[in-house]
Amino acid sequence: MKYISTRGGVPPQSFAEVVLTGLAPDGGLFVPQTLPRFSPAEIDDWRGLDYPSLVARIVTPFVGDDIPEPELQQIIARAYSTFRHRAIAPLVQSGHNEWVLELFHGPTLAFKDFALQFLGHLLDYILEQRQQKAVILGATSGDTGSAAIEGCRRCANIDIFILHPHERVSEVQRRQMTTVAAENVHNIALEGNFDDCQNLVKASFGDQSFLPEGRRLIAVNSINWARIMAQIVYYFWAALAVGGPQRKVSFSVPTGNFGDIFAGYLAHQMGLPVAQLVIATNANDILHRCISGNDHSKRPLVHSLSPSMDIMVSSNFERLLFDLYERDDVAIRQLMETFHTTGEFKLAESALAKARHLFGSACVDDELTVQTIAEEYGASDYLLDPHSAIGLAAGRRCRSDDSVPMICLATAHPAKFPEAVQRAGYPGAPPLPPHMSDLFEKAERFAVCANDRASVHRFIADHVSA
Ligand SMILES: *Cc1c(COP(=O)(O)O)cnc(C)c1O
Repeated sequence: MKYISTRGGVPPQSFAEVVLTGLAPDGGLFVPQTLPRFSPAEIDDWRGLDYPSLVARIVTPFVGDDIPEPELQQIIARAYSTFRHRAIAPLVQSGHNEWVLELFHGPTLAFKDFALQFLGHLLDYILEQRQQKAVILGATSGDTGSAAIEGCRRCANIDIFILHPHERVSEVQRRQMTTVAAENVHNIALEGNFDDCQNLVKASFGDQSFLPEGRRLIAVNSINWARIMAQIVYYFWAALAVGGPQRKVSFSVPTGNFGDIFAGYLAHQMGLPVAQLVIATNANDILHRCISGNDHSKRPLVHSLSPSMDIMVSSNFERLLFDLYERDDVAIRQLMETFHTTGEFKLAESALAKARHLFGSACVDDELTVQTIAEEYGASDYLLDPHSAIGLAAGRRCRSDDSVPMICLATAHPAKFPEAVQRAGYPGAPPLPPHMSDLFEKAERFAVCANDRASVHRFIADHVSA
């Protein structure tokens, strides 16, 4: 299996190279040259598999010859051994023909663990084979940093440095990062905001001369192909659990960077019968405006109660556009150029029609988010986190056929977002799961750094392992 860039400026690459690279050198995103396709009979055959075995079936064609099968199976087994639920991704019924897919049983209580536990072990294996070591550098305003740290803490060939804005992330989220006692994990609290963190990371990728000889930087943000690939699996998993592939199913997905829902789109392209994919956004609704009114224009960032979806532009959307434009890389380059210079673009009618055939969308503001959390808790004592509440509310609003099961993705555990949950009337802080109840007693370790590139680079150079 080879991978190509959505902007057409890179020769086809291997899986291993794509995983190490992240963003394509021409500024585009990597996508598989062709997708594997599974027949209904094949999918039906997977019904009895446990989660790791299903992962192996689905990702093997994407990995190709880059990793031998027994090693790949070992990587998968390790990645999902840290989840605290036997089913890995359990389904809970929330209404008539309506289900919540709980994706928050991983070590950091958010769905990002599905991809980052896997990616950490993949990278470690690939680096080991090449006898290389690498440095992961990332910026976080919350979930990504802790999930990346948990994914890499046991990787011998990786040093990981995560920047967060000093005193501007929630205490639960900070402690999930700073209480990890591992030699290769380094937290930097930058005296600046999240944008400063992101800009510093971006600039560092442009000039890596501050690193020791032979090291390279690896990005693990949601444009990394391996993250998307890992997320395809739970769409098949959930559909099989509610009667697929004989029966069509729909999904509602709390969406920020469009990584998670793009994995659902790929599942559909690979043969899973999906009736509808609902893009659920918060007040940062560029994708909802695009699908519903062909208005893909940048607006100022709104700080919402669902911070992990607070984004102005969804970078993975380019991967969908590439398909909507029949994989015409010239058209994609033009569209992105227009967006870069004017801050907006309109889709061609044919592309928009194709998108609307599968995708619905809804914007759920803070008020409806809180109302949904309160209603669900009142009706069935089930406590949703604000991101998951957006998924549920949007799924209900967009649902077009009650006979088709609607599966709403629950992307985080409510204990991570006490503010929204309390506004919904929950008394006190929602409890952490028992295995994490000592989070507030553990010692923290992080360095406070000036908002200055040279100081951060010096810190990294001083702390990279030998
Ligand atoms: C990252 C995240 C999202 C958004 O996922 P995308 O792949 O960026 O669309 C939604 N909910 C939670 C809790 C997240 O951490």
